Amino acid sequence: MAAQQGPVVIVGAGQAGGWVALTVRSLQPDRPVILIGDEDHPPYERPPLSKDVLSGKATPESTYLKPLAHYAESGIDLRLGSRVAAIAPDDRTVTLSTGERLGYGQLVLATGMSPRPLVIPGADHPRVRTLRSMQDLAPIRQLLAPGHKVVCIGAGFIGLEIAAVAARSGCAVTVLEAAPAALGRVVSPEVSAALVRRHEQNGVAFRFGASVISIQDKSGMAEIELAGGDSLAADLVIVGIGGMPNCQLAEAAGIDCDNGISVDAEGRTSEPSIYAAGDVCRQFSLALGRTIRLESWQNAQNQAIAVGKHIAGVPEPYADLPWFWTDQYDDNFQIIGAPERWDRVVWRGMPDDDKFTAIYLDNGRVVAGNTLNNARDIRPLRQMIIDQAVVDPAVLQDTETALIKIQKLQAAI
Ligand SMILES: Cc1cc2nc3c(=O)[nH]c(=O)nc-3n(C[C@H](O)[C@H](O)[C@H](O)COP(=O)(O)OP(=O)(O)OC[C@H]3O[C@@H](n4cnc5c(N)ncnc54)[C@H](O)[C@@H]3O)c2cc1C
Repeated sequence: MAAQQGPVVIVGAGQAGGWVALTVRSLQPDRPVILIGDEDHPPYERPPLSKDVLSGKATPESTYLKPLAHYAESGIDLRLGSRVAAIAPDDRTVTLSTGERLGYGQLVLATGMSPRPLVIPGADHPRVRTLRSMQDLAPIRQLLAPGHKVVCIGAGFIGLEIAAVAARSGCAVTVLEAAPAALGRVVSPEVSAALVRRHEQNGVAFRFGASVISIQDKSGMAEIELAGGDSLAADLVIVGIGGMPNCQLAEAAGIDCDNGISVDAEGRTSEPSIYAAGDVCRQFSLALGRTIRLESWQNAQNQAIAVGKHIAGVPEPYADLPWFWTDQYDDNFQIIGAPERWDRVVWRGMPDDDKFTAIYLDNGRVVAGNTLNNARDIRPLRQMIIDQAVVDPAVLQDTETALIKIQKLQAAI
């Protein structure tokens, strides 16, 4: 049997793994597909975990890509609660932690990432938590009681989303951030400050340049010690300081990794029969012209579908421009593009408005955009970034004219 006709084995039954399996089976209904995941849930989308599922507005089941029964009905051999311990590219097998070995024609690594641990004394205190998976939820929800003190370490998206849910739950929330601003690597200082002010209006306190040096137990609560001598008591400490791609299986098998499993434009690793998709992989982005590792819903779905199509013999280039959204309080904030640099930000609206669009320019070209409660601007922004449009900032700023109209006029020139 030709190698590519053997089973497609997918390691990691998350959003990306789920989409690879569903795509291959829909295009090749006779192809054996085995989807192996170490969690107890069928593939699910994680964004609601720190938003509506955490606040209790949505059920855990509402996050499932497909109901559990769908996998058996589609002929996907979904093995939950099952961990892959090793892969052997030479004989095309994977070994489960139970010792069972499975052969593959093509293998997909969709192992996601793990939260970066806080490496300080006392970080293993039971009140110190990270949020990545469904099983992390219960202890966090239990501690989001009115009047409780919640400290988020890290002013990234997950820290800010949990801060919002905690504040809405009646907790006293403090965000500690080592850098001088929130979301410092992805948005401009003015946009960052605008988002921080919206949290402050909801009662959240921020301490920037804060360095946490240890956590101690104080009558069951966590006592956080900061460099400089200050300390804060917390009923709940959320650590959101980034993530690390789960590359261990690939590294042990000698596959090229570089803060992520390196894949080509088709999603193939340095081992031709092994692919990777989702948070774990670093790919050359056709849209950006450089390699990038993305941690986003859009990438986990569409990159995985592209890998599934390639495996099924109907390749289609994956060229999505990075797009990300977050919901905090009643605000929806979106980011389109992932520029390495910009030299000017043009505002449609003011930073303190309830709705604005910030357009990032580099040497006159549109390279990225942010919208606050203004999602309709994302489509024209995406097109302007793809077109590398050069638009007069005075025209971009004119809120009397819809951005879609400005984009269409510019494209017609
Ligand atoms: C709380 C939270 C909120 C988010 N909010 C947003 C948002 O608002 N917008 C947005 O765009 N993105 C958001 N994201 C990011 C988005 O959810 C991720 O990019 C996406 O889940 C990545 O999918 P994945 O399949 O690559 O990884 P995952 O979903 O992490 O799936 C990987 C799976 O592989 C399993 N696994 C790992 N190793 C093995 C092994 N050896 N054997 C078996 N199984 C294994 C893991 O346990 C996991 O189940 C959020 C993420 C989190 C955690």
